[in-house]
Amino acid sequence: MQNFCTEMIGGLRIRFRRLVNDVLFLDRFSQSCFIIGLVGIAMFGILFAIPHLYTDFGDTAVLIARAFGLFVAFQMFINWLCMKFIDNRYDPDRHGTLPEGIQMGQNISRLPASVPESKPVNENKRKTNGLNQRKSGSVMYVATEMPKTADDLPKRTAYPYFSWTPCLRCNRPRPPRCHHCPQCNICVLKRDHHCHFAGSCIGYRNLRHFSVFLFWATVATIFSTVHALPYYYYHVIQNTSFFDVLFPVAIARYLLGYICLRYALFVTLSWILITFLYWATSFLKIVVNLIMLGKTTFEADNKMELTDRRNLNDKLRSVYGKYWILNFIIPLQFLYEPDDDPINWPFVKA
Ligand SMILES: [Zn+2]
Ligand SMILES: [Zn+2]
Repeated sequence: MQNFCTEMIGGLRIRFRRLVNDVLFLDRFSQSCFIIGLVGIAMFGILFAIPHLYTDFGDTAVLIARAFGLFVAFQMFINWLCMKFIDNRYDPDRHGTLPEGIQMGQNISRLPASVPESKPVNENKRKTNGLNQRKSGSVMYVATEMPKTADDLPKRTAYPYFSWTPCLRCNRPRPPRCHHCPQCNICVLKRDHHCHFAGSCIGYRNLRHFSVFLFWATVATIFSTVHALPYYYYHVIQNTSFFDVLFPVAIARYLLGYICLRYALFVTLSWILITFLYWATSFLKIVVNLIMLGKTTFEADNKMELTDRRNLNDKLRSVYGKYWILNFIIPLQFLYEPDDDPINWPFVKA
């Protein structure tokens, strides 16, 4: 009997370890939390808070508030789908391969060709000048040799950040700002980060959806909080104890029969709401700041020296394409691609 129990526990432990080690586990777990959280917040507004807050204004006010809530939830959902399914991968046939005259590990932002496209540079001049570049700024360590055993790490070589570098996994050169994502197992153009909530990488083509999503997530969480506070004040606080503000206490007291399910659910959803409010506002602040600087999260985190010399309007077009503001109402990805060159980055100085 004891042997059987030990074997069973051992087997479960191995299974659990395998599940957690699976690179997709975090993606699946985060996406499930995200969906449950989003549905929870929507339920919260539509079922509880909205009808309560607008009783004095009649059914039309309730309808308008619910319609706005649904519009915001729809915007979040559609941009989440775009984040998840829009293809960011580097495709040499579509985007181009290592240009002739440029070497691997050569800082391309210091070539004369990196002046704006309105002033084309003679191709021959570009080739000769390119080799006489100054020493590059920031350095990135790139995996260049597979590890000998499973426990070893790959061998890494220093390359100037703004250069073409080899991708060990795809076995081909990749342009500056393009990084291989171990989770997605592709080379991602202008890779910002891997988003576990969407289960995909945020990069050149879906950064716009990530930022629009965060904008509407911030609106949604502020909208829900504004509706939740009076509901809490007029309904929940009068029917629960002070300690029920902590959701484990509220759940335990519901199970013991002291408070009703409605209030236990409200307190739990409020904690989810506060977490989402914090995430959405802090991520939105970071993304807006990065778009204004023309940098990616990777570049900011690793303190890469890099300057985008365009004005704010052009930086916005490099993310959203034409008519950037309209993206906050309809996804315009398929009409207007980002107005930038994801291979040569002619406006960046690094
Ligand atoms: Zn790759
Ligand atoms: Zn990824």
